[in-house]
Amino acid sequence: MITTQHSVVLNGVKYVWIKVKSALVKSGLKDYTYALNPYVGCYHGCNYCYARAYVRYPDVRDNWGYVVYIKENLPQILRSEVRKLKPAVVGLGTTTDPYQPIEAVTKITRESLNTLLKNRFKVVIQTKSSLVIRDLDILKERKDLVELGFTITTLDQNLSRALEPRASPPKARVEALRKAASAGIRTWIFLGPIIPGVNDSPESIKEVLEVARESSSTVYYDWLRFKPGLESFFSYLNIDLSRYLSGDEYKIWRRKTSQTILKICEELNVKCASEFNEYSIT
Ligand code: SF4
Repeated sequence: MITTQHSVVLNGVKYVWIKVKSALVKSGLKDYTYALNPYVGCYHGCNYCYARAYVRYPDVRDNWGYVVYIKENLPQILRSEVRKLKPAVVGLGTTTDPYQPIEAVTKITRESLNTLLKNRFKVVIQTKSSLVIRDLDILKERKDLVELGFTITTLDQNLSRALEPRASPPKARVEALRKAASAGIRTWIFLGPIIPGVNDSPESIKEVLEVARESSSTVYYDWLRFKPGLESFFSYLNIDLSRYLSGDEYKIWRRKTSQTILKICEELNVKCASEFNEYSIT
């Protein structure tokens, strides 16, 4: 349940300040006890994003990347929730990016992170933004409780701009990852989504895995998911959706690509795992 407060339009994006009644949500992801998402919707507007399929608010879902709800009272609600809970594992940004540009102003993620770490909750952050480095001071203080993951789909600037038009460019993500790793933060790279014919070449994969090697990051990888709302993305890529939905071809491609990834990981001595068990290749 939310209460809508006020809104502004900045650079073509409508920001709506809302009040929420709860902060932590039980997570359905196997490694997290709770999920915390300071924002509904995401300015990064990645073309392949299927988070929109899980959003209840039509305004956000139908204008993905152009409407973002800001949970302005999240830090206060979180403070009162953690007082009543045992420390557990929190996924910060499981649905949408917790470090999208408005965070530079609102500092909701920063405040929430502070509260969680002070109360000995373990926090796993996933982002595509170099803004997270702003919070390196907090992260360093409790590095025993922190893991920081960057999604890196490709190191090709132009391809990244086409896929993830408003996220930090790959170079900036890599630089942020290196800074965090050199500060002693446990880091990982999410290589995904891997898309047939787009970022699945051994060369493209190897470039990302080299970054993992240098920064001693673990790599998790995953495939493109077919979710409602992505039809225009598929036609933009010229992917024959019906062919992939039939399953077999996609299964063969996944097996081959997985073998490539695991082989390169082995060569580079990078720890590497498929993100979701149902797609693990045996
Ligand atoms: S950063 Fe993540 S949540 Fe945001 S648009 Fe991209 S894929 Fe979706």
